[in-house]
Amino acid sequence: MQKIINEIKLDFDDVLIRPKRSFLNSRSEVCIHREFGFKYSPRKLNIIPIMVANMDTVGTFAMAKTLSQQGLITCLHKHYSSQQYIDFYTSNNEINKDLVFYSVGTSEKDINKTVDIFTKIQEFKPYPNICLDVANGYTENFVKIAHKLRKLFPASVIMAGNVVTQEMTEELIMHGQADIVKVGIGSGSVCTTRLKTGVGYPQLSAVMECADAAHGLGGHVCSDGGCKVVGDICKAFGGNSDFVMLGSMFAGTNECEGEWQYDLSKKVSLKFYGMSSKEAMHKHYNGVAEYRTSEGKAVIVPYKGGAEEIVQDILGGLRSACTYIGATKIKDFGKKTTFIQVNNTHNRIFE
Ligand code: 5GP
Repeated sequence: MQKIINEIKLDFDDVLIRPKRSFLNSRSEVCIHREFGFKYSPRKLNIIPIMVANMDTVGTFAMAKTLSQQGLITCLHKHYSSQQYIDFYTSNNEINKDLVFYSVGTSEKDINKTVDIFTKIQEFKPYPNICLDVANGYTENFVKIAHKLRKLFPASVIMAGNVVTQEMTEELIMHGQADIVKVGIGSGSVCTTRLKTGVGYPQLSAVMECADAAHGLGGHVCSDGGCKVVGDICKAFGGNSDFVMLGSMFAGTNECEGEWQYDLSKKVSLKFYGMSSKEAMHKHYNGVAEYRTSEGKAVIVPYKGGAEEIVQDILGGLRSACTYIGATKIKDFGKKTTFIQVNNTHNRIFE
């Protein structure tokens, strides 16, 4: 029998956060750091729970340097060489390595590379945080690999995804033994999965539902993809996401790597592309394999200056949102949020 779910699922653009009376007098009273404990990893992290995506343009060593100084997380892309990772983790480069996630896919090559690197850096940085990342987290093999990584690296904070539904969130926490489940399919700025496959799930509902499942089991979720403005980040936290991952909002900052366009040696714009785009596959895998299609696109984004400025803007917005809803700390954001379903989020007269 064919099925249809009639309840309408929501995206960030379908809601606003309702303001509430509060005792907060100033944005400076808001704490946007959060201390995390994890279900499996014994590690504690005291951080601002915002992550830069492990895309090869934004998930760079330079990004890690800037963001770790601000208390935010960088998920490094997986295309650096083993030696580059080893140098990164073993050198005294003023980067707090707890604020970095090492990315890995499910291929044997990826796992072997991880084991090799982690063995060599053991003395300097035992059990780095791991981001086990695939486009489709619904395969049996994916859960097995997550579990295998947990056995190999029991003390690592392991984030695994992407999924968008409760049963797979539960599966990844219970049997994959992931600490954090990454949520989002088709919501990304340079993602074309919804166009190429018709598959997806509105991001806000996905986050709310997966967070509910994860929190019931002592796990966490990270909302990945679809934040276009700072308000969307606030809405993701409002939907009970523990972490929020961003790609496009950091694309075009100084810390990015890739094809820059220059005008008289000044950066003007950057080519930003999905990690499943034709561009990425040509760069890293010698082209698009015959049996698949690209599920990402390339765009040109304007130069935005230093990542620090983007961080300021995000944290300012988050603090302000906290004062509007009476959340003294980011941890309470979800608890304090009531959403209103809307037809219109803002005035577009000057857009
Ligand atoms: P953004 O913050 O730019 O909206 O979304 C970033 C997220 O988009 C990434 O963290 C990743 O989950 C997703 N993404 C990146 N590249 C691709 C791609 O080529 N295809 C798809 N389907 N998703 C992508």
